[in-house]
Amino acid sequence: MSEANVLVLIGQIGAGKSTVSRKLESVGVRHLDVENMRDADRERMGSSTIADNVASAATSGPVVFECSGASSEFEEIIERLTLGGFRSLVVLLECSIPTALRRVNCRDGRRRPRAGGSWVSQMRWTESRLRLVPTDLTLSSETDDPESIAAVIAKARGGASSYVKDQRVSTVRQEVSFTQLAAFQVCPWSYKLKYVDHLPEIVETEQMFLGGRLHETLAWLYGGSAAQPSKTELVAWFRNRLAETIPSEADGAAVSRLFKAGEKALIFHHEVVYRQERSNTIAIERMVRLPLDRKLTFVGRVDRVAVDASGAIEVIDYKGSDRKRTSRPRIPDWLQLAAYSVAILKELNQSTVIARRVMLATGEEERFAVSARDARRVILALRRWASGMLTKRTYWTRPGPHCASCQFNPICGAAARGAKSRAFIRTVEGGTVVNGYQGYPSVSC
Ligand code: SF4
Repeated sequence: MSEANVLVLIGQIGAGKSTVSRKLESVGVRHLDVENMRDADRERMGSSTIADNVASAATSGPVVFECSGASSEFEEIIERLTLGGFRSLVVLLECSIPTALRRVNCRDGRRRPRAGGSWVSQMRWTESRLRLVPTDLTLSSETDDPESIAAVIAKARGGASSYVKDQRVSTVRQEVSFTQLAAFQVCPWSYKLKYVDHLPEIVETEQMFLGGRLHETLAWLYGGSAAQPSKTELVAWFRNRLAETIPSEADGAAVSRLFKAGEKALIFHHEVVYRQERSNTIAIERMVRLPLDRKLTFVGRVDRVAVDASGAIEVIDYKGSDRKRTSRPRIPDWLQLAAYSVAILKELNQSTVIARRVMLATGEEERFAVSARDARRVILALRRWASGMLTKRTYWTRPGPHCASCQFNPICGAAARGAKSRAFIRTVEGGTVVNGYQGYPSVSC
């Protein structure tokens, strides 16, 4: 694979992009900053002019292009570079808002955001928008110094590229789901075992099993025939479903633990979310399809589609775990809901839909509007992410705390040591499940 000739360095203001870019400059990478381009000619500096400027610089050597990644033009710029034959490596430099704020205040305490408002509100907005952006590399300026970050980026430039232009001349029709894309991002080896070798999954962790039962219970709550089920009816339905599906080898302690965890989440959801819910369900577990180009289609399943009192369509996703507490490597988690929303927007011929994500454990809700104007950005982001996955011909292990919940942990020699998950283990011989579940040990990795 050839080197990436455009390093796209994105992140918050205050994340340290300029400092890292200067380190890269010292090893011969030319630095371009989108803000400087805009200052030079604000009137004409649209996505095509920005991409042309970057492309022009990249013809004579590697370039680091610094921007936040949050603007609505971002994917269009990368797309244009790709169509021009340039390879981009998108690197996200992360840091917390308090750290970014401290750095901005130290640098120039009196400077205000160009767009008005406060730095904190702008940083929150940027942080949200970045949750829509797939990246090839995510590094933390909170824990790593600029020299080591620049060294990692320079090394990655030689080996990885996010977007290969030839992908769209594939003659094979393909479908990709968010689960597939996220699996590749988390660990390419695990992705290969599941989606390339089609091995049966060996491990089902307690959280996976419980998450499946909770989703089934919510589908019954919002879409079942019972009118406004009470808390007691909800918990009874969950208890029955748990009893029907739990592997027979699970001991009493495991059953009790799973029941208590599910009961707590469902009662909380019923009291805090369901009883305040005013939107009417129009579909549950609805399959969606979003064409990304002539050969590639994004597919998925929306937990719930509803219509609110004003007639606005809502696309609702229920999440069992809080993303801030997950041990997985970073994935662009809002892109899933944005993609489902664009698919529903097109299917139902709407100009805007409301995307809602509800956390079961806390009752917190995130919501954002998705309009027809967002569709292209979302499609380009998915296409860029998918092509990075579909064009890879080598798969590597990516050990980390997430190994504790990996479905292939027992047969992976690279699994990280230390973390543990309670999980069912299936008995597998020669790639086939022979005995169903073995029991309920911890996956020690
Ligand atoms: S155990 Fe870890 S390294 Fe091995 S396949 Fe799973 S996630 Fe990847």
